[in-house]
Amino acid sequence: MHPFTSYPTATSLDDLRHNLDAVRGRIAAACGRVGRDPAGVRLLPVSKTVDEARLCLAYAAGCRELGENKVQEAQRKAEALADLPDLRWSVIGHLQTNKARLVARFASEFQALDSLRLAEALDRRLQAEGRALDVLVQVNTSGEASKYGLHPDEVPAFLHVLPTFSALRVRGLMTLALLSGDPAWVRQCFARLRTLRDRLRQDAAPGIALDELSMGMSGDFEIAVEEGATVVRVGQAIFGARALPDSHYWPTPAA
Ligand SMILES: *Cc1c(COP(=O)(O)O)cnc(C)c1O
Repeated sequence: MHPFTSYPTATSLDDLRHNLDAVRGRIAAACGRVGRDPAGVRLLPVSKTVDEARLCLAYAAGCRELGENKVQEAQRKAEALADLPDLRWSVIGHLQTNKARLVARFASEFQALDSLRLAEALDRRLQAEGRALDVLVQVNTSGEASKYGLHPDEVPAFLHVLPTFSALRVRGLMTLALLSGDPAWVRQCFARLRTLRDRLRQDAAPGIALDELSMGMSGDFEIAVEEGATVVRVGQAIFGARALPDSHYWPTPAA
């Protein structure tokens, strides 16, 4: 689907079930095209801007995991929905070091690790909470200055020091593709992440698992699955179009 397509808002349990089924069906079809088992692709529903009432519907529709871009929004929702058993939160957006404490408290996964300072801060806070956290290293595969993440060349040295931080369980890599209507460019970003992962996996340090490739969103998850995604982060195709522009969630790093 074209990335700039608009998505109808899901307001009922039926809407959400229908959208989740449709996305799962498209994941399965993409798997079929490349001979993959759909069980190897985790669908992470992304719930930024979606209110708690609709998140309860998503829970009723079977979602046990939600992705949020901003940590305060995630924490507010995690507290409001603390009564729902087994609901896990994944923070998928850029994190300032001074907010590591919040993530350490409630998140079960963080997908945007991109600096040593942040790894240190998270590890320290997690040790204090007696918790561990699954982490993915964010890689900038598009070369756009507006995207967070490490340059692919920086990733090997970064992974090399991560075993120092025993509360961080390194699971793999994450990327955002070029926001482009040209599927060939998008595909190239995903292929770059997979190639990098395959290369790094050969001599990864003990304790560093590089099984996960988190890539693909509403507009491009089928391409990502064809290119090997093990996690797709899908918001609008499940919950409906967002009123806020994505620039609100992906500010330029310089800003
Ligand atoms: C919002 C967001 C997504 C999901 O985007 P949709 O267009 O809603 O599918 C994926 N990844 C990140 C980092 C996001 O912030």
